[in-house]
Amino acid sequence: MPPKKAPAPKKSSAKVAVKNPAKKAPAGKKASAAKKKTAAKKTPVKAMGWKPGVPKEKPKGRVYEGPLHVNAKPKKSDLIFFGTGGVPHSAQPQNHPGAVRRLAELGLGVYEMEFVHGVRIRPETCEEVKAAQAETGIRVTAHGPYYINLYSLEEDKIEASRGRVLDTARALEACGGDGACFHPGFYQKRDPAEVHAFMTKQIGELAGILEKEGCPVRLDPETTGKGSQFGSLDELCEMGGALSGKNISITIDFAHIHARSAGANNTYDEFAAQLELMKNKLGPQALTSMHIHLSGIAYTEKGEAHHLELDDSDMNYPDLFRALIDFGASGRVVCESPALEYDALIMQKAYRKLNGS
Ligand SMILES: [Zn+2]
Ligand SMILES: [Zn+2]
Repeated sequence: MPPKKAPAPKKSSAKVAVKNPAKKAPAGKKASAAKKKTAAKKTPVKAMGWKPGVPKEKPKGRVYEGPLHVNAKPKKSDLIFFGTGGVPHSAQPQNHPGAVRRLAELGLGVYEMEFVHGVRIRPETCEEVKAAQAETGIRVTAHGPYYINLYSLEEDKIEASRGRVLDTARALEACGGDGACFHPGFYQKRDPAEVHAFMTKQIGELAGILEKEGCPVRLDPETTGKGSQFGSLDELCEMGGALSGKNISITIDFAHIHARSAGANNTYDEFAAQLELMKNKLGPQALTSMHIHLSGIAYTEKGEAHHLELDDSDMNYPDLFRALIDFGASGRVVCESPALEYDALIMQKAYRKLNGS
């Protein structure tokens, strides 16, 4: 289990840890950076991604308090399962096994364990998650630590990052899950082609280590939300193609892709082109075991600012679901909106409505 999470959110004002995008100036460069800022930046950064008319405030994350099983009825043809990235606000107790049980109660189907601040989970807890998972049929995935940079400028950080990816996969195996998502790292002003080659080698090696250990968990590097981070859809598809035969796919975060392109990638045709690219580069099986992330998202020209609730955002999820259905896609959708289970239920309902027959 991640280090004690912030105290269980009160019913009406669930908090979600959103990184403060404003504080990231490296300590050494303060003076010159501050000077540049005042010179170049008169106009405030324009945050986009909100639905017209919605006030531009970070959402608190609403909590689902309605009746259970209000979702549109499941259809026989349903191929996609929905759930939350992190413990649902309404889970009691606020831990991994409690999360699995609450998601089952709500009629959802996926739980992504967040190891974003470190892979810290006791073996007994893994056993409990595994038991809850077997009992409920909830599919379990995991998100690795944010502190991963597989091509850090510092050698020891590369080694530590490799360990974090491996530990995420191992912990997930112990919990009976599959699909270890992580952000591979940053360009840090280097040539993208060089970074790409290095990342491909690293991730291939990590998959090789897991295979040797007999760990069945698939590595799913995630499409990232900022241009400074390695992980455009093209890059990851290219990498997956080069590593075909290894137990690797991708986590496709449609909100990140939308934010990374500062507002593009939000129409049916664009979603369809993304799925087509995955099929061509990674093979048709990439569309039958999808690991998807989805939420509303606020962004600037530089990409992701923070996640938003679906209702507040411009995220065109109905057209995304139409494209997924038309491609016969199957797999898991992890809702990463601040509203967690509330929005996961909205997504599931929308998908089931569209998924006729
Ligand atoms: Zn992520
Ligand atoms: Zn994501």
